[in-house]
Amino acid sequence: MTAPGSASAARALRRRFYAYVVPDSPKSVRETLAIAQARIRHSGLDTHRIDSDCALLQRLIDETERLRPLGVGGNHGDLHTPDCGCSS
Ligand SMILES: [Zn+2]
Repeated sequence: MTAPGSASAARALRRRFYAYVVPDSPKSVRETLAIAQARIRHSGLDTHRIDSDCALLQRLIDETERLRPLGVGGNHGDLHTPDCGCSS
């Protein structure tokens, strides 16, 4: 266990988070990740692999939804954020 605020705690924190920069909108990335997730679920791979891949894809989908939130019925509506991609 590392002490909060220590140099080793800071290094551990930096290792846990990554930033990816892609030219695609959160909407496009989310749609493609959802398609990939559905295809993996029906891929015939072993269950453990399917579960871990779908869990990773869900974390990525969740991140796209942080950037571009969805409301009732899966619509973005007026839930704009600085990174939702609507104004660019
Ligand atoms: Zn928006």
